[in-house]
Amino acid sequence: MKTPMTRKDFLNGIAFAAGSTLLKPFDLFAQESGPDPSAREYFLSKGITQSDPGYYPPALTGMRGSHPGSFETAHALRDGKRWKTAGASDTGEHYDLVVVGGGISGLAAAYFYRQAHGAGVKILVLDNHDDFGGHAKRNEFRSGGLIGYGGTQEIEGWPNWSPQAKGLLHDLGIDPERFEKVYYDHEFRKQHGLKHAVFFDKETFGADALVNDVGLPTWEQFAARTPLAPRARADLVRFQTQEVDYLPGLTPEEKSKRLLKMSFQRFLQEHVKVDQQVIEFFRTFVSGGFGVQIDAIPALLALTSGQFLNTYWDGQQGPTGAALTGMGLSGAAFPGAPQGQERFVYYHFPDGNASIARMLVRSLIPGSAPGSTMEDIVTANIDYSRLDQPASNIRVRLNSTAVQVQHLGLPTHAREVQVTYVRDGKPCAVRGATCILACYNMIIPYLCPQLPQKQKEALALGAKVPLVYANAQLRQWTSLQKAGAAMMYCPNSYFSEVYMDFPVSMGGYHYTRSPDQPVVLHMVRVPCQPGIPARQQRRAGRVQLYTTPFETFEQQIREQLGRMLGPSGFDPDRDIEAITVNRWPHGYADFFRDIDDPDWPPDQRPNVVGRQPFGRISIANSDAAASAQTQAAIDEAYRAVQEVSRRQPA
Ligand SMILES: Cc1cc2nc3c(=O)[nH]c(=O)nc-3n(C[C@H](O)[C@H](O)[C@H](O)COP(=O)(O)OP(=O)(O)OC[C@H]3O[C@@H](n4cnc5c(N)ncnc54)[C@H](O)[C@@H]3O)c2cc1C
Repeated sequence: MKTPMTRKDFLNGIAFAAGSTLLKPFDLFAQESGPDPSAREYFLSKGITQSDPGYYPPALTGMRGSHPGSFETAHALRDGKRWKTAGASDTGEHYDLVVVGGGISGLAAAYFYRQAHGAGVKILVLDNHDDFGGHAKRNEFRSGGLIGYGGTQEIEGWPNWSPQAKGLLHDLGIDPERFEKVYYDHEFRKQHGLKHAVFFDKETFGADALVNDVGLPTWEQFAARTPLAPRARADLVRFQTQEVDYLPGLTPEEKSKRLLKMSFQRFLQEHVKVDQQVIEFFRTFVSGGFGVQIDAIPALLALTSGQFLNTYWDGQQGPTGAALTGMGLSGAAFPGAPQGQERFVYYHFPDGNASIARMLVRSLIPGSAPGSTMEDIVTANIDYSRLDQPASNIRVRLNSTAVQVQHLGLPTHAREVQVTYVRDGKPCAVRGATCILACYNMIIPYLCPQLPQKQKEALALGAKVPLVYANAQLRQWTSLQKAGAAMMYCPNSYFSEVYMDFPVSMGGYHYTRSPDQPVVLHMVRVPCQPGIPARQQRRAGRVQLYTTPFETFEQQIREQLGRMLGPSGFDPDRDIEAITVNRWPHGYADFFRDIDDPDWPPDQRPNVVGRQPFGRISIANSDAAASAQTQAAIDEAYRAVQEVSRRQPA
């Protein structure tokens, strides 16, 4: 880097000196508010609330995801703070259904409930963030006219979606196959010579080197271009190309069982017997899917998901394929993996699955967004002032953290549930004939302390996967073209994955066309603490995330990109125009498949015990399926609506 970064360079995520002439009024407005304000504080300082026309969270840069202002109330609840229900200002609002959590699961629950009970039903959706969508969030970069995704990236495993989840998308007007057929530019990377690459860092491998064409034209030739030592090169080639049975004498079932209880690191060390540098090469190669490194990922899951990740490696023999074949496990797929959709990665709106959330809101609240198709939602502006209007049957109330959910009377007999939430520091109460908790499941024991003890313990066990999805808007991508790299795996760097957003154009939105135009670079960090059990690692990673300031992420982004792409002409000062850091301390659902997890019988799995209905309260969210997938979020919403619909109306 030419100059050390100061807070003058970036204010609230926007490059100040370099990019200011390009900024549109909203961004300039954001700059006025001083260094790194939270969106909520920013809106508050300007007197802008969700009901005002100026409220538009997707265009905020800086720290997003679990932004400041979104989690403090929930953490205070965890730490013992209680709000007196009697003292809560009673809004006097009564609903047929109150949904806690405005992610895809909560919005889908509202949708299914209205479908089941008619357009006249009254529903309130509460969410603690300043924007709806949960993990399915959108980042807009108005200076470059670009859209990025802040979380939920794509529609995965579409052929295997349930009829209900498929039906929901079809009703909304989404035909996912159009991504593959029409919107995704399959030629883009080829046309510009953009390949998969690995960034070897000097601290681990002795020299900084970005080496593209992973495994091509042969693994031997690829290895020869890396800074790996001779023994490591030979071991990598051996592992990638020789079909060896590393667990001889066992049946495929016995091998699978053994590999589920052994870390991938141990498998490489003790069975493949590779050089330490090869272990470092694989250190974080599937961390983005599991939230830990290979010391804590079961070998079978690493092997099979590595094979599954072939799509990211241009469909060639991906990492780990030869080992699986050698052990007679080549047909294996990790439990929960999307099946039968080889090119799943192409089912991607420019804002990821935020478009699904936006289409749900457009359907639930007429007038909240213009248009009616899966194309026009991409550039549509949501009118947030329409989301929580008294005249509306369905309302979405943001910046509102539920702190108590209780039956008014015995759960078996009560006709109403009271939900207390905190907004702007003040407790408020609403009532519903039924309630669906589509929030993170591990907060539910604090919301409903009256749940059975066994259920509370099961709910509390889940430790969601902490993740960071940072988006950097680049002024141009000439350096990427020169490096011949679009998808970069960085085994030991701060961000383990760096890639150009997917080449999708649809509706009025166009992906970058030439290297002198802006593009969004997407960067993934998985915070964890190797060496301890996975669930503890995820908890430690979450603490790291909450205590890492935005400036640290900025600094790391600039430094890492400078080291990776500097030799190809990249200049962080000149090329980075804006940064949005989507911080998800509570990211993917806990899969309950850690190495040291017991083999729970299906009906005793923690998510199953945890999601049991309680009086008029039911539980949704992808956590309830122990599956970090959108179809799971929708399926759990459908189940929860079936459950509450069986209760007597108030
Ligand atoms: C970075 C990232 C990338 C992902 N990529 C994909 C992908 O490509 N494809 C895929 O299928 N899945 C992906 N997922 C998984 C994703 O979790 C699901 O697909 C889906 O979006 C989850 O929806 P949900 O509604 O179940 O949960 P969430 O999106 O988590 O929504 C729950 C909402 O409830 C809110 N809430 C919690 N407690 C309270 C409270 N007390 N009061 C009010 N609100 C509360 C939360 O803050 C949140 O907004 C990804 C997840 C992450 C984190």
